[in-house]
Amino acid sequence: MSNHSFSTFDVSIDFIPLNVAVYEYVGDGFCIVDFNTMAEQTENVKREDIIGKRLEKVFPGVKDFGLFDVLLRVYEKGGCEDADLGFYDDGRVSGWRKNRVCRLENGNVIALYSDMTVQKDIESRLESLGIILDNSINEVYIFNKEDLHFTYLNKAAQKNIGYTISEMQTMTPVDIKPEYDLKSFLELIEPLMRGEKDFLVFETVHERKDGTRYNAEIRLQSVNRGNTEQFVVLTHDITDRKNAQSKLLESEEKFRNIAENALMGIFIYKERGLYANQALVEISGYSTQELYAMSPWDLVTQEYKEQVRNISKRRLRGEKFPQEYEDIKLVKKDGKIRTVRISTQTIMYGNAYAGMGTMIDITDIQETKQQLKLLAQAVEQMDELVRITDKDGIITYVNDALVAHTGYKHVELLGKKIGLYKSGLHKKEFYKELWETIASGKTFRGVFINRKKDGQIYYEEETITPIVDDKQNIQYYVATSQDITDRVKMEEKLHTLATIDSITCIYNRNKIGEELDIEIARAKRYESSFALIMFDIDFFKAVNDRYGHDMGDYVLKELCAVVSKLIRESDRFGRWGGEEFIIITPIIQKEQVMLLANKLKDVIATHAFKEISKVTISIGITLLGREDTKESLLKRVDNALYESKNRGRNRVSFK
Ligand code: GH3
Ligand code: MG
Ligand code: MG
Repeated sequence: MSNHSFSTFDVSIDFIPLNVAVYEYVGDGFCIVDFNTMAEQTENVKREDIIGKRLEKVFPGVKDFGLFDVLLRVYEKGGCEDADLGFYDDGRVSGWRKNRVCRLENGNVIALYSDMTVQKDIESRLESLGIILDNSINEVYIFNKEDLHFTYLNKAAQKNIGYTISEMQTMTPVDIKPEYDLKSFLELIEPLMRGEKDFLVFETVHERKDGTRYNAEIRLQSVNRGNTEQFVVLTHDITDRKNAQSKLLESEEKFRNIAENALMGIFIYKERGLYANQALVEISGYSTQELYAMSPWDLVTQEYKEQVRNISKRRLRGEKFPQEYEDIKLVKKDGKIRTVRISTQTIMYGNAYAGMGTMIDITDIQETKQQLKLLAQAVEQMDELVRITDKDGIITYVNDALVAHTGYKHVELLGKKIGLYKSGLHKKEFYKELWETIASGKTFRGVFINRKKDGQIYYEEETITPIVDDKQNIQYYVATSQDITDRVKMEEKLHTLATIDSITCIYNRNKIGEELDIEIARAKRYESSFALIMFDIDFFKAVNDRYGHDMGDYVLKELCAVVSKLIRESDRFGRWGGEEFIIITPIIQKEQVMLLANKLKDVIATHAFKEISKVTISIGITLLGREDTKESLLKRVDNALYESKNRGRNRVSFK
């Protein structure tokens, strides 16, 4: 409704202590566009009944008492016109209206007028407005447009500036604004003077009667009061805010940087914010201007409001009490809730107390902590042995499983070097490789042989992972392991079963066959050779038949023990069949292998096997040739053995 230029006063026309009516020209007359409360009462009409209606319909006498002509003139010519008009009701003068009629930018015509007939009424209205102004907590000054002299200042203004009304009536704004002389002040308010602007907002400094100064945020607007145009000055003392900012911003460069660049939110407050750094802006989502209009407790969730208000008020009363820190919930401008850790203190600010504090957003840290807690619980309950050491190998954590397993107590392990439960069974190179791997940031996996507190050896399959910080520096090593002693023992047993013949305790056919593969491959690789010896007990069936199977077994065992003593460590000896054996020896000359074979044959032939007087063996020998495969080699040695049998047994043949 009040969409005419008056609305830019930012006050409803209802608050203008004058009758106000706005009219729109509609071709052949005027329609009523707006009518303020005072005019409603003056004319005894209701706004909603008359808005949009034609002027002459509502006020039939309007043409007679001349208002219509004034409106039309102003509408056509623009500008303003003053007119004192009497109007008639029932044929007699019932009242006088003192009008100033002006054309607005949008073409409407506004009438500002006072009812001369009820002058007293206006005065009483002004008085009531005065009471409101008088008691406002804002400082209000009014000065004349004409000579710039103050005509009014309210109680708050008197109190702060220190002058009485009568003292100020001889003064102008320039007298209390040390920053301005008359010329610069007139320049400042020129847009208002010329009607280009309806109000001005600026910051200035006011000097009190006692010579002290304060920062003031001014809202200056022009208002018609009676006949004279006046300026109303609404003033906020912003000294505290200014001081807080400048104290922090203009103080030592170092502190300024800390405050402004700190990741930590820094704030100073009284009833409202006085200072907030950039970090606080980021944490809260509010601009500094918004923060200055808020109280500390406006920033927190409902559950913390009372507590924060309480602490803030106590600080503003000057109470000094320690408060290490407090984790509270902050409501950001976008409504998101964050957990912040705040720490506040009471500070002296000018002559009064204020609160100062720091704030960090710990929401993410808390979430991480929560996760860590869960993980830690999981680790505690794991069956795996978990150990954390620092980068120097000092144990910083062990889980319960590790404690239970090793038999050491927590205190016996924590702070100790990792070598504590070494078994001493690894070679130096093992640990060297381990440290080289993990120190280069890689994960190490291996089987450790360690020792429990009671000395018992155990096998641990361990994974050691380095944990690095943001800069890729190793901070910790996390080791997780399982005791695999049982598995190792079982594997050893299986391995034995898989490779050793149970009667003779030498390699079984499978193993000696593998050894033969390995030796052939190696010889091929190095273009070398080796000798293969195959022997078979003569007439062994007869031994079994005559002395029994057990005695046969005894002969096998005894014979293998004798042969084992005769061969060298580099030789491989295995059972190829029932009573048939193989020896792989690195000898590469026929003469030497003949020598060895004959020695075997003779030692066996002369060995005293209990109960059985004589056991002989027949031997075949061959050397690995360039073209040989495993099959061709075995075939040739078998042929050699066959030849020894054919030639009467207890002899050696070379092929
Ligand atoms: P030759 O001189 O021709 O080798 O005659 P031989 O009797 O030794 O040959 P033959 O192959 O006929 O007999 C081998 C015998 O070896 C048959 C078997 O009873 C015996 N034998 C094979 N393995 C074992 C064993 O593990 N224990 C016992 N006691 N005897 C075995
Ligand atoms: Mg035999
Ligand atoms: Mg045989």
